[in-house]
Amino acid sequence: MSSELGSSEYRLLLIDDDEVDVMTFQRSLKKSDLIYKLDVCYNAPEALSTIEKNTYDCIFLDYLLPGIDGLQLLRKLRDMNINTPVAVMTSQGDEKIAVEMIKNGAFDYFTKSDINPDKISKVVITAVRLWDAERQRLVAENKIIENNNRLNAILESTRNLIYAFDRDLKLISFNSSFKENLEHLLRENGLVQTDINLNDIPLNPERKTNLILNIEKCFLGEQFTVLEQVSFSNDEFKETPWYETTFNPIINAQGDVTGVAIYSQDVTENKKIEQDLLNAKNDAIAAAQAKSEFLSNMSHEIRTPMNAIIGLTELLLEEKFEGTNMENIKSIKYSADNLLVIINDILDFSKIEAGKVTFEDIDFDLRHRMNELKKTFGHRTKEKGLDFHIEVDNNVPSAIKGDPYRLNQILFNLVGNAIKFTSDGYIKVSVKIKNQESDKISLEFIVKDSGIGIPQAQQSKIFESFTQANTDTTRKYGGTGLGLAITKNLVQLQGGTIDIASEVGIGTSFIVSIPYGFGQNEKIEDLSQKKSELSDLSSLKILLVEDNLMNQFVAKQFFKKWNNELIIANHGAEAITILRERDDIDLVLMDLQMPEMSGFQAAEIIRGTNTVVKNSSIPIIALSADAFLETRRKVIEAGMNDYVTKPFKPEELYSKILKYTQKESNSE
Ligand code: ADP
Repeated sequence: MSSELGSSEYRLLLIDDDEVDVMTFQRSLKKSDLIYKLDVCYNAPEALSTIEKNTYDCIFLDYLLPGIDGLQLLRKLRDMNINTPVAVMTSQGDEKIAVEMIKNGAFDYFTKSDINPDKISKVVITAVRLWDAERQRLVAENKIIENNNRLNAILESTRNLIYAFDRDLKLISFNSSFKENLEHLLRENGLVQTDINLNDIPLNPERKTNLILNIEKCFLGEQFTVLEQVSFSNDEFKETPWYETTFNPIINAQGDVTGVAIYSQDVTENKKIEQDLLNAKNDAIAAAQAKSEFLSNMSHEIRTPMNAIIGLTELLLEEKFEGTNMENIKSIKYSADNLLVIINDILDFSKIEAGKVTFEDIDFDLRHRMNELKKTFGHRTKEKGLDFHIEVDNNVPSAIKGDPYRLNQILFNLVGNAIKFTSDGYIKVSVKIKNQESDKISLEFIVKDSGIGIPQAQQSKIFESFTQANTDTTRKYGGTGLGLAITKNLVQLQGGTIDIASEVGIGTSFIVSIPYGFGQNEKIEDLSQKKSELSDLSSLKILLVEDNLMNQFVAKQFFKKWNNELIIANHGAEAITILRERDDIDLVLMDLQMPEMSGFQAAEIIRGTNTVVKNSSIPIIALSADAFLETRRKVIEAGMNDYVTKPFKPEELYSKILKYTQKESNSE
C-alpha cells in the first residue's frame, strides 16, 4: 500500500469483462507516468476473492459485469468493510447509474471513452489522497471510540455517583449509579424526563441551593471537595447518608470552563466507624476517669488509717521499748511505709494514664533539695553499710525554676531502687549542667550504684509498667514494677530524657536530663534554717480542724511532744464558730474533706470579704490524704497558705508551722 503520493508503486485493480476495454485501459496506464502494479479480474466472484487477499490503492470497476452488476458488487465490498476507493467506468449514456454508484460509495466515475493516460493518473492520485484522508479519519475515529470506552469503563467502575452539568445546569453526563438514583427520584415524584435540567430535579431546596452554589463556584475554575449529608437518593428508610463530593471544572481546548463534573462518594460507613471510634475513645476516657476517681477515693480511705498507723508507730518508736518489742514496732513502721509507697505509686500511675498530671513552675533551691535527699536516705544507706555521696557541680545554680516535688519523686524512686538493689559498695548522685541557654538550663542527674545490675536484654523493658528485670525480683526485693514507669513519664512530661547504663554484678546508672528555668534567689524558702530557730511550739495556739478521731489523737500525740496542746474543731463549721470568738489563735491546720462543712468552704468563709471571724488573714495549712497537684492548687485558690500531705512527716509539718507563724511575728 502506498502512502506517499507519486513516490512508490500503486496497487491497482481493474474489474472488467471486456478484453478490448482491458487492453485499452492497460495501454493508457502504461503511457501514464505512474509506477504501478495492475491486477485484472474479469468477473465479480474472482474480484471479490482477489480483493480479500490483497490491498489496493484504487479499484476501477466496470459497471456492467456478467451475473452481478457493479452496484451490487460495490455494496458487497462495503458490507465486507472494504473501504478502498472505487472509480466506476460506464458506457456512454449511463451517467444516471454512475450517480447511483457514487451515492453508494464510489468516489469517481468516467465513461470508457474518456480513458486516457492523464485521466487514469488523475483518478489514481485522487484515490490515494482520499484513501489517506479516510484512513486518518478512521484512525481518529477509532481513537475517539476507544477513549470514550475507556472513560465509560472508568465511570462505570464505581458505585459512587459521577455526573456533570453545563453552564445552563443541563445534565450532560452521568454514570449508571447516578442514573439509577435519579430515575428512582424522578419516578417517586411521578416525573419522566429526558432532557434534564438541575432546576427540574425534585431535590430538597436547601440541597439544591447548595449544589448550585458549588457548581457556580466551580465554574470560576476551582476544584474542591465538600462533605454533605444528603444525596440524590431520598430514601426515607435509609439513614441520611454522608457524601464526600468533589467538584471539578471541565475545560475546553480554549481553556474555558464549559461544565462541572461532580463525584459523590458515599462515606456513611466511614463516618459511622469514625463515630464508633470517637464513642469508644470517650468511653475509654470516661472509664479511665472513673478509675482515677475510684483510686483517688480509695486512697483517701486508705491513707486516713495509714496516717494513724504510721503516726502512732513513730510515737512508739520514741518510747524506750526492749528487744523484740522494739523490733516488732520497727517492722510495723517499715511495712506501713512500704504500703504507703505502693498506694502512692498506683495513684500516680493512674493519674499519668488519665493524662491528668500537671507540673508546678516555681522557684526552688536545688542544693536544698539535694540535702533533703541526703537526709532522707542517709539513715537507710548507713543501716545497709553503703557509702552515699551527693555531688553538685559548682557551676550549677542553686535557684532553679520548675517542679521540685516531681524532681523529688524522680530522685527518690531512683535512689530508693539503687539502695534496694545494692548490698555493698556505694550510691552516688551527681548533678551537672548538660546544656545552658539564656533562659533555660538542662540539668543532668546521675544516680549510680554498685549493685546487682540489670541484664542488657531487660534494660529497655524495666521502664514498662508492672515489669521487673527478673521474675524472682518481687520475691527477693518486693516492689510493683511501677516506679520506673512513673519516673520515665514524669521525666518525659517535663521534656526530659532518661537513660540507663548497667552491667550485671558491677552496677547501674540512671541518667536523667530535665530542662529547667532559672529561679530568683530571693524567692527561695529555706526551711531547714528556720527550723532551728525555735525549739518547741509551746508558745503557739494551733487549731486543728479534723473529723477523724484517730487522726485527732495522732496529731495530739505529736503536738504534745512539741509541748503544744492543740485546740480541736470537728469540722469546718465548728472552726468558724471558734475563730469568731477567739482572736488568740496563731494558725489553723485544716483537713479538707469533712462532714457539715469542708475545709475549702471554711477557708473561703475565713478569707471572705464579709467574714465573721476575728482574724481573716490567719495562716491556714491544709492537711489532706490526697497528694495531687490539683488539690494543692484548689487549696491555694480557697485562700489557704500551704499544704501538707497525710500521713504528715513531723519535720515538714513542724517547719511549715514555723514558717507561717514566724512570718506573722516578723510582720508585726
Ligand atoms: P519495682 O517496684 O519493682 O522496683 P521499678 O519500676 O522501680 O519497680 O523497677 C523495675 C525493675 O527494674 C526492678 O524490679 C528491678 O528489677 C530493676 N531495677 C530498677 N532499678 C534497679 C537498680 N538500681 N539496680 C538493679 N535493678 C534495678
